[in-house]
Amino acid sequence: MKNFTKRCLAIVLIVCVLICTAGCKGDICSPHKDDNSNGVCDKCHQSVMEYVDFYNINDLHGKLDDGQNHIGVDELTTFLKAARQSDQNAVFLSSGDMWQGQAESNMTKGFIMTDWMNELDFTAMTLGNHEFDWGEEYVKQNSDLAEFPFLAINIYDRATNKIVDYCKPSVMIDAGAAQIGIIGAIGDCYSSIAVDKCDEVYFKVGNDLTALVLHEANSLRQKGADFIVYIIHDGHGRSSSGTAQQISSSQISSYYDTALSDGYVDLVFEGHTHQGYLLKDEYGVYHMQNRGDNKGGISHAEISINTVTGKTNVSVAELISTSHYQSLDDDPIVDQLLDKYSDQIEPANEILGTNSTRRNSGELQQLIAQLYFETGFKEWGDEYDIVLGGGFMSIRSPYYLPYGDVTYADLQSLFPFDNQLTLCSVKGSELKSKFISTSNDRYYIHYGDYGNSIKENIDPTKTYYIIVDTYTADYKYNNLKIVKRYDENIFARDLLANFIKSGGLS
Ligand SMILES: [Zn+2]
Ligand SMILES: [Zn+2]
Repeated sequence: MKNFTKRCLAIVLIVCVLICTAGCKGDICSPHKDDNSNGVCDKCHQSVMEYVDFYNINDLHGKLDDGQNHIGVDELTTFLKAARQSDQNAVFLSSGDMWQGQAESNMTKGFIMTDWMNELDFTAMTLGNHEFDWGEEYVKQNSDLAEFPFLAINIYDRATNKIVDYCKPSVMIDAGAAQIGIIGAIGDCYSSIAVDKCDEVYFKVGNDLTALVLHEANSLRQKGADFIVYIIHDGHGRSSSGTAQQISSSQISSYYDTALSDGYVDLVFEGHTHQGYLLKDEYGVYHMQNRGDNKGGISHAEISINTVTGKTNVSVAELISTSHYQSLDDDPIVDQLLDKYSDQIEPANEILGTNSTRRNSGELQQLIAQLYFETGFKEWGDEYDIVLGGGFMSIRSPYYLPYGDVTYADLQSLFPFDNQLTLCSVKGSELKSKFISTSNDRYYIHYGDYGNSIKENIDPTKTYYIIVDTYTADYKYNNLKIVKRYDENIFARDLLANFIKSGGLS
């Protein structure tokens, strides 16, 4: 019996030596072993750690070039290229709303931004509501141009009831010996997309979205993902500064189900609300967003992965402010891209006329309401008694028109929206509550003579006619019915451009 035990021990010893010599060819062995979880192989003493740096941009809104109130991306490009040079595991991501907002991007329908992201070798981007501003066709064309995938697990095609063919739910990338899964989603912002241009799609949100992400995370884990990043075009409604703020599940429940942080999602980059924050949820998962329009900066996280034990850790989570990179040298890529697309962009730099004094946002919005009325009245006034023009009026950065020469590009920044003008019918009761006596301070109204004569005596049961754009017309709670549509290529900024050309502001 003793002899038998000895023999067994000897065999075990020989087998161990064989395994070790087979596994440890030269200095590095395979597979590594890290029983004490110190990041160093117990056998060959090599590091078994991988480090990955994520840089996320949200809501850049076409700010490629410098503008009146913001810097362009020429310095940011220098910063990101340097980050890539010093770290082969640098991953560039975007959580949406990259294209719409400034002339060079609007005039090229987002192509110039996609081209820039190609140049920087972005890994993935999720789509924002504004990516749909020019219709689905341009999203498809941009996806053809993009050398990286658009990730949106919850944008569905109404006809097929499947995810749209220009988006993927996720992507898996190698980072050295580790694998990273990235899942993308759009938020519950269907009501803020240009619905009239995109009724072929719908977004799965709420519990449906949670189920999709859970399922995708599971399948990525099964395929070997060590770490899962979630990029979503939605976010928290408040900015905060300084170190990470603890956040409860209920505070983010409008767009994120914290159940996802229980082993499915390890890090979240957000967008859409244009807030700057670094949050930590109840499971310790970070949520980050850095404002918008290249005003805040970018979000950065560094993670470590023990490729033997699978243990991961977010070692750095920080908001990098624009001041961190704005004094760097300009990268020439911005000028090269402006040059490449100059034929399309140039018309935006034509001087339309002069503006005699600084105009603030309210004055400009009221003027748009007036131009809506006058344009609609000229077109349909013979046929219809038109009460008013206007409706919900958004305006964008820089929110004012400075004194001096005005270009179409200036108006593109203020009014980037492509909403068509419409003549709508409306019940008297709705006309009164939603327009004449509206409590919404973003509604701007201009009355014609007829409107002025009857606005105090609206018959709640009668039908009236008003001029609004499709944004207001499509807002279902207004209960408007579109009767006529104006030229589909004329928007608020075009009416304002013509007004300025004819000397209206000089
Ligand atoms: Zn945005
Ligand atoms: Zn958005």
